[in-house]
Amino acid sequence: MNDKVNERMCVVCRNMYNKNKLLRIAKIKDSVIIDENYISGGRGLYICSIDCFRKATENKKMNRALKFFINDSLFEKAEEILNGKR
Ligand SMILES: [Zn+2]
Repeated sequence: MNDKVNERMCVVCRNMYNKNKLLRIAKIKDSVIIDENYISGGRGLYICSIDCFRKATENKKMNRALKFFINDSLFEKAEEILNGKR
């Protein structure tokens, strides 16, 4: 099995990581969720670390894709999950 298949790009730093290390955020209809099990489908993006999540939060005004997904209420949950991956 090729590991590259499971690599995804962090939307903030644009490095490639195995998706197990990444936080997936998905948008389903009008709600944004943290997709812990990678099963929800819909539009999604990947973030590799809480630092990147923080940058995304700070930069969302400049990036329409991020503005679409990132909101402050997700931050605590994101931090908890990303810390769990370390
Ligand atoms: Zn990153």
